[in-house]
Amino acid sequence: MRANTSVYIATFVPLIAAPIIGWVLIDLLFKIHQLEEEMRELATYDALTGLLRRRAFTERAELLYKIAKREKLVFSIVMVDFDHFKKINDQYGHDAGDKVLAAFGKTVLKIMRESDLACRFGGEEFAFFLSNTAQTQALKFSERLHIAIRESSINYEGASIQYTVSMGIASYPKARIKNVQGFLKVADKGLYIAKENGRNQTKIYEVK
Ligand code: GH3
Ligand code: MG
Ligand code: MG
Repeated sequence: MRANTSVYIATFVPLIAAPIIGWVLIDLLFKIHQLEEEMRELATYDALTGLLRRRAFTERAELLYKIAKREKLVFSIVMVDFDHFKKINDQYGHDAGDKVLAAFGKTVLKIMRESDLACRFGGEEFAFFLSNTAQTQALKFSERLHIAIRESSINYEGASIQYTVSMGIASYPKARIKNVQGFLKVADKGLYIAKENGRNQTKIYEVK
């Protein structure tokens, strides 16, 4: 190889290659960033309903609990469970059941305030954190949700599906309850009473 050719290669190859490698690297970094965003989204939100996943909800609720305690604010936690959801799956199929859960997510987001948290707690169970909401207002919220559900129907392959939910409420402050888990438990007890009492209603468990 003549000396001239070597000089040309040493000069022009890096000149051509550097911008290409640069662009490839930028593209890779951009893709990594996008993947990180997607992973964060998947870890935070439930894909079916668009509501918070349990862990993200609990973390945020604990923070809001601390703020409420410090600022002497009220809040309410609502637990929700679909009534006889197994029957919906059995009658219309699992995909129809999924569609009902997704529709519920949309209904909830419509009637909730932006400062509230809504979460798919697991399966067909949901939990809400209603900021600045005392027990009476939380009961009104649950009544609005019962009504919105009653007025909605889900179309699935020609069928019109109706559903109901039961709810339990626990409101801050309560002398004996010291953390979010405690409020979730008491709301769950109310939910159990609502089920026992015939479903499609909201109940409050009175802590002694
Ligand atoms: P209850 O009124 O006592 O709550 O009755 P239920 O039938 O709702 O309660 P159960 O716990 O017996 O059944 C819950 C059903 O919810 C069973 C399960 O297959 C269904 N389910 C849970 N997660 C999903 C989901 O993501 N999609 C669908 N389609 N069904 C689900
Ligand atoms: Mg159920
Ligand atoms: Mg359940």
